[in-house]
Amino acid sequence: MIRFSTIALLYLILSPCSSFGQDFGSQCETRNASEYLYKEHPELRPENNAAYQKLERAIKQGHLRRNDEKFIIPVVFHIIHDNGPENIPDERIYEAVDILNEDFNFKNLDRFEIVDEFEGIAANIGIEFRIARKNARGNCELGIIRKESKATNNGNWDAPLNVKAVSYWPRDKYLNIWIVAKSDGGNGSGWAYLPSQVEDRPTVDGIVMSARYIGHSLKGTDQASFNRVLTHEVGHFLNLRHIWGPGENGEQDQCDEDDGVDDTPNTNGFTGCDTGRLSCGSLDNNQNYMEYTRCPRMFTNGQKERMLVTLMSDVSDRNKLWQEENLIATGVIGEASECDVVTGLRGDLLENPFKLSIYPNPSNKRFDLTFSLEKREKVTIQIQDVNGRTIHSVVNSVWYNAGEHHLPNIDLSDMNAGLYFLNVIVDEVRSVNRLILQ
Ligand SMILES: [Zn+2]
Repeated sequence: MIRFSTIALLYLILSPCSSFGQDFGSQCETRNASEYLYKEHPELRPENNAAYQKLERAIKQGHLRRNDEKFIIPVVFHIIHDNGPENIPDERIYEAVDILNEDFNFKNLDRFEIVDEFEGIAANIGIEFRIARKNARGNCELGIIRKESKATNNGNWDAPLNVKAVSYWPRDKYLNIWIVAKSDGGNGSGWAYLPSQVEDRPTVDGIVMSARYIGHSLKGTDQASFNRVLTHEVGHFLNLRHIWGPGENGEQDQCDEDDGVDDTPNTNGFTGCDTGRLSCGSLDNNQNYMEYTRCPRMFTNGQKERMLVTLMSDVSDRNKLWQEENLIATGVIGEASECDVVTGLRGDLLENPFKLSIYPNPSNKRFDLTFSLEKREKVTIQIQDVNGRTIHSVVNSVWYNAGEHHLPNIDLSDMNAGLYFLNVIVDEVRSVNRLILQ
């Protein structure tokens, strides 16, 4: 115990991110989830697991390339909350999707900080994540679901209340991401099963995330990089392991253990941001998303290959997600306007609940907005593109009194011409309106 405290104290002193050890737990609980799973289900251990071996064989063979065509994956976020701060606003979800799309398309601005030694193998994965606009019954429903449940306090694999049973959409159509207060009942950030661990357990397939790691809630803090944990967890969802191998981060003697990726140098695992660190006789790829460091910047070409092979495989239905028919069925491509009246939250409000008028519409990027409230309310008005990404905020959580309100001359002259959706969000009601800029 004394020894542990000394090490912990030393860590806090040496870590560039001193509050990490106090406020936040480990970066990812996937290893603990695996250990527990293998104890309960020894048949799922890699050596006994046919799905695991099938994927490894496919990875060795390499996949049939689709000419670098982009993969699109429909995503559903289940916000399981107990009316606490874990009931995060939609904006944070859109931020999280933006971050994922930057990281998986090599558009993250910090890619320019990748050290020379790894610049040449930093990969553009070519996967785009889109929030679903239709549910599994084919009805218009935004893939941001809110459910009240005490399960939010422990999203752990062995918790008495199963967060995944509170809300779930079929995994052959959607990547399920559950947002909770505590992903592991403690200070954990998030976790996901590997595809080979859930082939026969579809309803637990997906990612559990603590809400404070979603979007830019930590912007400007030492923990700002923690918004990349979701990138790390999607890596697990697509069959990536930690780059140090199956053991615990930072354990010694892991230089012989491997992550099944050829171009990631062996390492013992690390948590700081030392990009000059050599733990196994070669430079560590400490900027890799599958490390635990505070400066994640990249996946490698080898990790890309592993993820794309997994996406092409029928193990755990990964190859069904990106099929065109599924993208149409989930509303992420094609006639998005079909679902522009009301998306989610309260699907029965087909009338115009705030008597909203946009004039003129179409406009030459300048227009007036009028809306009415029956009582004093907190209003958010935002503009999304056809993929559901928020690209402009007109007002954000501003109180307005009862009555009619006029917002003149809204200027969007810096936006491209095209079809957008103007969302008025009041309490739990969202009114979505078509906005055409010429
Ligand atoms: Zn992990």
